[in-house]
Amino acid sequence: MDCIFCKIAAGEIPSTKVFENDKILAFNDVNPQAPVHILVIPKEHIASADGINADNAHLVSEIFKNIPQIAAQAGLENGYRIITNIGNDGCQSVKHMHFHVLGGKKLAEKMC
Ligand code: AMP
Ligand code: ZN
Repeated sequence: MDCIFCKIAAGEIPSTKVFENDKILAFNDVNPQAPVHILVIPKEHIASADGINADNAHLVSEIFKNIPQIAAQAGLENGYRIITNIGNDGCQSVKHMHFHVLGGKKLAEKMC
């Protein structure tokens, strides 16, 4: 499958990793929209959060279990935002589920 985030997870495309275990990977977004902009992905391909089901929900749990540590390591002690875009209306450009962790400044109040 021609998926850029699967290739990043496999180490075939370089990334700036900030956290990794056997199930998930976190790396810096190549086009940051905030002083801290980290993407957290499952290593297993899930097209979007709309593809979460009983068989793979443990990966979402694994991601959220580790985000506090990832955020703390990035210095986000004042708070941050987690976003996942889904499909065309959600402006999802990479079709491998990922959670944006944004922070390092006071973020915009509007979400859309
Ligand atoms: P989305 O629009 O929600 O699908 O977000 C995709 C994100 O992936 C964007 O913020 C891109 O800047 C980011 N991105 C795309 N390619 C790479 C890459 N090779 N390394 C790091 N981030 C990437
Ligand atoms: Zn993928």
